[in-house]
Amino acid sequence: MTISDIYSIDKRSDIMSKVRQEGTKAEILIRRFLFSHGFRYRKNDKRYPGKPDIVLPKYRMIIFVHGCFWHGHVNCKAAELPKTNTDFWKKKISENIARDQKNIETLRKEGWNVITIWQCEIEIKNKRKARLDLLLEEIINRR
Ligand SMILES: [Zn+2]
Repeated sequence: MTISDIYSIDKRSDIMSKVRQEGTKAEILIRRFLFSHGFRYRKNDKRYPGKPDIVLPKYRMIIFVHGCFWHGHVNCKAAELPKTNTDFWKKKISENIARDQKNIETLRKEGWNVITIWQCEIEIKNKRKARLDLLLEEIINRR
């Protein structure tokens, strides 16, 4: 059984609005990591398409921290569709994917470096260090 089977749609939106207010565990861990390495950022900046989770103006860099389920992480266990209301979820998630792609395209055209970090890359503890180290490289070696 997956989380998607357990929660009803209403319950899910409750959880999601709570997450949106406080930031996911992955977002918090990434922000803390960046801060401790001396980076200063803006959070959930509404001025940009997709309201990016982290904006590093000095590095002209935008970081999206995507929930695997909601943003359709390919080949990820956490992104498996629920067994019930499957068509509903399929449509919803593909709309989210299309929106993400459009936002990233727009931002890149405006000269932003855009990085997507998946929730599982941070929340799965043995993947975290490698992903955060890579993020440092991505920031330092940006175009
Ligand atoms: Zn994932």
